Order: sequence, then C-alpha cells, then structure tokens
Amino acid sequence: MDRVNAEGIRRKDLLWALRSRRIVLLARRRSECLLCRGHPVDESGLCTVCASQATEQEAELIERWRAGQEP
Ligand SMILES: [Zn+2]
Repeated sequence: MDRVNAEGIRRKDLLWALRSRRIVLLARRRSECLLCRGHPVDESGLCTVCASQATEQEAELIERWRAGQEP
C-alpha cells in the first residue's frame, strides 16, 4: 500500500482506491492526493484538480467521503 500511495495510483485504479478506507485515510494523513500527490487534499484524499476531473461514478464516492460517510 505504501508503494501505491508513494507513486500515486493509476487513474484506472481510482474507483478501487476510493472504496478503500485504508488508502483514503492514508492519503489524508499524508495530505497527498491519491492521483498526483499534490496538496491539499479533501476528505476523499484528492486535490481539487483531480476531484474536479472525476467521472460520475467516482464523484459519487467522493461525495460520500465529503459527507462524512465511508463507502
Ligand atoms: Zn491530484
């Protein structure tokens, strides 16, 4: 998991990452975006730029994190 986060995950793995409590919480703790490692990150572990490019399916999960729910 460290390696995945340290290098930034692949775009196609984002849905999987957003469903993983451990990965999202790690990104938040490090304040490193899941995709680009930029910061700051929001409750979903993404920076504003990456979050704004999310697909509809990803956006649903992002909204859940932002609402304080976990997938
Ligand atoms: Zn980003």
